[in-house]
Amino acid sequence: MLDKIKSTLLGVAIGDALGVPVEFQDHIEIKKHPVTKMIGYGTHNQPPGTFSDDASLTFCLAEALTQDFDLNTIAANFIKWRNEDYWTATGCVFDIGITTSRAITKLEAGVKPELAGGFEPRDNGNGSLMRIAPLVFYLLDKPINERFEITRKVSSITHGHIRSVIACFYYLEFAMKLIKGMDKVEIYNDLQKNIPEFLLSISVDPLEISHFDRLLKQNISNVHSGTIKSGGYVIETIEASIWSLLTTDNYNDAVLKAINLGHDTDTTAAVTGGLAGLLYGMDNIPLEYRKVIARYDDIMDLAERMNDNLFEGKK
Ligand SMILES: [Mg+2]
Repeated sequence: MLDKIKSTLLGVAIGDALGVPVEFQDHIEIKKHPVTKMIGYGTHNQPPGTFSDDASLTFCLAEALTQDFDLNTIAANFIKWRNEDYWTATGCVFDIGITTSRAITKLEAGVKPELAGGFEPRDNGNGSLMRIAPLVFYLLDKPINERFEITRKVSSITHGHIRSVIACFYYLEFAMKLIKGMDKVEIYNDLQKNIPEFLLSISVDPLEISHFDRLLKQNISNVHSGTIKSGGYVIETIEASIWSLLTTDNYNDAVLKAINLGHDTDTTAAVTGGLAGLLYGMDNIPLEYRKVIARYDDIMDLAERMNDNLFEGKK
């Protein structure tokens, strides 16, 4: 399991860092100079290997999973990130989403973590999806009701609307099945049945589920790239990530495909990279990326501590 934790965390961070220099470039702009390797600078003027909020908040969650599960610990880590540059790549926060920022302000004011996130349809940016990956290792052997409830709570620290929760849930169910060794296409097909069935069983509004129709009713891997959007909306991010994962066969191609869609490049690639890292493993993540990613040793150490707490202690 340790290797899987490592490749998931690193998968997120490297996808994020690859996308940071071209964040906000649109589809047409990025097509002129597609990203093919770790470049650095650009949009945020950060050196190669610099990850952003996506990976930082992922590590804040992972760090909380090195202790007994507690929403307050996760929330405290998020506050520490924004105020004290905790788990940043280079000692400063240079990118923060509006909904996340608002939620952290509420957390600081003492609002309960479960209630701090936005609950309106407009609060469905990709800010909880981009940081959710490590949670899969805590959910693994729990029943589906519990997996959903815990996912709902952890998403709600910043993003409380059901659409964001479903996106996180879909992503984590996908990740869980990858850990169990299932084939990605088999997983995709299984989820088309399992996810709506479960959501309807707990009385989620079918209209909300219908926002996921392209994933749940069509075959997203057959969709033309021109119709895959990659902005900050959580539906766009989950669609683009699953599409990038299903239409490639290695880590590098998956994250670069996500980035070269343009727009919210770092987040789309971070979300794709979590699953691709998990699926293809450490050895498939190019060595040149592993050498240049910020805080490599700290990330490996974090994975070790997560593994010790979640799996070794149980032996
Ligand atoms: Mg970012």
